[in-house]
Amino acid sequence: MTETRLRFPPSPTGYLHIGGARTALYNWLYARKTGGKLILRIEDTDAERSTQESIQGILDGMKWLGIDWDEGPYFQTEFESDHEASATRLLSEGKAYKCFCTKEELDAKREAAQKNKTTYGYDGTCRNLTAAEVAEKEAASMPFVIRFKVPNQDGEIGYDDKVLGYIKAQYTEIEDFVIVRSTGKPLYLLCNVVDDIRDRITHIIRGQDHMTNTIRQVLLYNALEAPIPVFAHMPLTLDLKKAKISKRKHGEIVAVHFYREHGFIPWALSNFLVLLGWSPGDDTEFFSREELIEAFSLERINKTNSIFNYQKNNPKFFTDPKAIAFNEHYLRSMPITEIADMVQPFLEAEGLWDSAYATDRKEWFLQTLDLIRDRFHVLTDFADLGRAYFSDEFPVEAKPLKKNVLKHEGLKEWLPMLADRYEALSEFTLETSEQTARDLATELDIKPGIIMNGMRTVVTGQLAGPSMFDILVTIGQEKVVSRLRNVGRLFEN
Ligand code: GLU
Repeated sequence: MTETRLRFPPSPTGYLHIGGARTALYNWLYARKTGGKLILRIEDTDAERSTQESIQGILDGMKWLGIDWDEGPYFQTEFESDHEASATRLLSEGKAYKCFCTKEELDAKREAAQKNKTTYGYDGTCRNLTAAEVAEKEAASMPFVIRFKVPNQDGEIGYDDKVLGYIKAQYTEIEDFVIVRSTGKPLYLLCNVVDDIRDRITHIIRGQDHMTNTIRQVLLYNALEAPIPVFAHMPLTLDLKKAKISKRKHGEIVAVHFYREHGFIPWALSNFLVLLGWSPGDDTEFFSREELIEAFSLERINKTNSIFNYQKNNPKFFTDPKAIAFNEHYLRSMPITEIADMVQPFLEAEGLWDSAYATDRKEWFLQTLDLIRDRFHVLTDFADLGRAYFSDEFPVEAKPLKKNVLKHEGLKEWLPMLADRYEALSEFTLETSEQTARDLATELDIKPGIIMNGMRTVVTGQLAGPSMFDILVTIGQEKVVSRLRNVGRLFEN
């Protein structure tokens, strides 16, 4: 059996967005599933719009997502001579021809067709020019494009799409399309095929938005006497208003780097993206890398478009709630050492990282992450909601401040009393810290909840979180004592 060879050929005209990442993932999964190769090809022939920054962003994004490739990156611009050679070959074999029609002539024909309400297609004026006529026009330095000569025959041309079934068109419906511009530059449609033939690509998985090209590309494969690869056109990703997800329209929210910066776990994003347009046939949602490679198939790619349920102005989440749910799942269930590696840069960025967390205090660090992760959604939460575990300077949320502290003037005295008792404890454990707090509440004849809630707010700045006494033991006797003793500062303004 021949080796399967897949490709991901992004145009480097912007950041890697979630639609592109999903395409890369499908190609990668299929390459891995079939023991084949994934080729990365940067389609940088649009010199004006391609940037080095975008190339770097694509490479970084793929690496971050864990999409490894086997060959490349190749750059389309390195193969311009191949593209030109193929155009020359098609010309010399009579499968393409020079077209000298001017823009004005073509526009006039198009307008006439519009007036008559007929569909416009190039009428083949230059198709049958004699060699002498061509030579004459060339001698007069008339500009020309090169058009592909669509076989002049009845019947249909088609291909078997792995997702959508047999896709066909009548030869007579396809106009003689341009493959080389009047500047001499081959069109993308041709370059893409020439590169795929050279790279011996066997399977092309790409968005349905490329289908308008595919039939014409099939004609090019035939003309260049190359085998037609397997095509699988995937559904598009739309927003809630059914608009195609795009960099232009949706901005950063669809950029892979945005998810990285906002504390997504790469595999959580990948897992979410793969299910946006593919289903395993049952309701399994969470897959390991190996499980997903095993389960993936082209046949189960959805036919209909997927919805990226991102609601602008959603106060709670900055993206599709389902994407967040995937991240929560991995954040709360992955081995804590892996979480620790991913959290470190976020703590570093906030000045909260202590090198001892990798050495002497490693055990404490891992236990702390494990304790607090259950309510977290994204990795940034560790440095944000979890700040009080890593620093004495942390904000106190307005709601618990009002409800659990300021409402009870007495806490100004009670919490420092508790601080004294905690300080005197020779062992600061779950049991002793709880018993001491309860005893104090009984002596003062107040509800224990007043002490507990006040204490939570003062010690963590938060309304909710893990069990109170776990928190105390984790943060440690000394810090707890000092925070309780300083409760007065919260009443000051
Ligand atoms: N460069 C094209 C794009 O980024 C790829 C087209 C293809 O997959 O054939 O959309």
